[in-house]
Amino acid sequence: MDMKRIRRLSHSHTSPDPLKGEFEGEALPFSHHGKKNGSQISIPVFVILICVVGITLFVVTSGVHRSESIVTIATAGGGGGGEAKRVSLSRFRNGPINKDRTLGGLLATSGFDDLSCLSRYRTAFYHKIIPHKPSRYLIQKLRAHESLQKRCGPGTNSYRKAVEQLRSGQRNNFDQDCNYLVWISYSGLGNRILTVASAFLYSLLTNRVLLIDRGKDMDDLFCEPFPETSWLLPLDFPLTNTLANFSITSPESYGNMIKNKVGVHKGNFIYLHLDHGYNDNDKLFFCEEDQNTIQNARWLMLRSDIYFVPSLFLNSLFKDELNQLFPEKDAVFHHLGRYLFHPTNAVWGLITRYYDSYLAKADEIVGIQVRVFEIDPGPFRHVLDQIISCTQNEGLLPQIVEHEIGPPATKRKSKAVLFTSLNMGYYEHIRSMYWESPTSTGEIVSVYQPSYEGYQQSERNKHNRKAWAEMYLLSLTDKLVTSGWSTFGYVAQGLGGLKPWIMFRPENRTVPNPPCRRDMSMEPCFHSPPFYDCQKKKGIDTGKLVPHVRHCDDITWGIKLVDEDTS
Ligand code: GDP
Repeated sequence: MDMKRIRRLSHSHTSPDPLKGEFEGEALPFSHHGKKNGSQISIPVFVILICVVGITLFVVTSGVHRSESIVTIATAGGGGGGEAKRVSLSRFRNGPINKDRTLGGLLATSGFDDLSCLSRYRTAFYHKIIPHKPSRYLIQKLRAHESLQKRCGPGTNSYRKAVEQLRSGQRNNFDQDCNYLVWISYSGLGNRILTVASAFLYSLLTNRVLLIDRGKDMDDLFCEPFPETSWLLPLDFPLTNTLANFSITSPESYGNMIKNKVGVHKGNFIYLHLDHGYNDNDKLFFCEEDQNTIQNARWLMLRSDIYFVPSLFLNSLFKDELNQLFPEKDAVFHHLGRYLFHPTNAVWGLITRYYDSYLAKADEIVGIQVRVFEIDPGPFRHVLDQIISCTQNEGLLPQIVEHEIGPPATKRKSKAVLFTSLNMGYYEHIRSMYWESPTSTGEIVSVYQPSYEGYQQSERNKHNRKAWAEMYLLSLTDKLVTSGWSTFGYVAQGLGGLKPWIMFRPENRTVPNPPCRRDMSMEPCFHSPPFYDCQKKKGIDTGKLVPHVRHCDDITWGIKLVDEDTS
């Protein structure tokens, strides 16, 4: 990248209103790759003692102190190991009150080295109180699945035998219980997170061990989710070098096996091609009869960039189980995401340092995720206008006025706005706007953006660390505005338990009317669902079959889970 050009461009950003007047319509000309005193009251000494002991116990059992404290951690890129380092635990926005480190029983309480993954048991201290609780049944199922992962996972005899069977193609069974699903790493980080969650749910439903192809950096971004075992596919896995080559044309794909009438048995593996461009034969994965066939294979390899969970709710083999697991239909990704995705210490550092520096003290945090699907990097006037009209029409951010209304109150409400975008133009304009003019409500609006990476660089792990940290920071906001179509935003809303205001994707570079709307659910949208009735073998609108699976607001042909109360 031309550094001189960047410096010159950043200089131009110091102009008070970089967008004013001259940049109507098209891409804007700058772009970045982008207590009451108790002494009078006589209190018996033992009462005081009891209070002191009680408070101490509370603080100790809650695991953290509200004020800064120093701990020694093992610095780790990949969730463990590394040199010991002293770090300060952050101040917690919500205090140690009502903070359940296991997220309502979602997380196992033992079997992890706490310090090698600081985020795992500290998430609760950063999130505001979230009303969605995992069902008892989901918790039981997760504990059972953890034993399966441990019993059959890498390093076990069962794993060795299953790999041997994969190599040899023998049909005889070794351990009936140990069947595997290998998730192949590919696509942007938001897509990857959604597909790992989909793959995990499918593993849970079909009692399969989930193994993750680490790709360039999965182990650098996420801690191990299962206690006393690893979900990382061992590097000496026989198909390691083949995984990246699987495609719609691979003879091992389920679609092609059907087409070529190839039988499925324990000795062969099936490649599941669930990519957005999949064909009708591949889509048979969602049919009951085909599921029965697929379960004959010990090994499944999955390549996907879609959140296919909603279609599992339409499959009669899974739907009862799913209803029991998730009585709240719009909290599926919320629970799975909080169970699976714990930022490694390196990413947790990015999150907590940013949060503590810029967001923790605000009365309210508003997140704005700007994702522009254009070839030009922007920034674009219509996108800026859309952000302003959405946030102001919906009362998320105040209007600006010419003169201060009345004398400043001693304590004015503060709002921190967290922007995430590949481009810094939108953030810069909104920040200038709230600096140059007072607000109609007297609120103080501070605007921040952690990075502006210019363009998607999914092969660079520093870039992905920032992307993951930003998704996570967005999930810590009180109100969230996202860009339609973007899995980056879906991850943030799901982890945060937030129903976002979703900005519709602009067409012809004009601001959509309305610019945004409150989403009906916090679930991600399945962008390319099958429209097929497996029993009647004909097309059907799968967004209209049951009240809890509906068409998405941002992608009209997509489908998503909604809570039945919304229906
Ligand atoms: P989607 O393409 O919006 O569905 O989201 P993905 O996460 O799958 O792919 C987009 C990728 O572009 C991200 O993973 C990042 O690599 C990059 N990206 C997009 N928007 C941002 C952003 O606001 N911040 C950062 N740091 N990276 C971004």
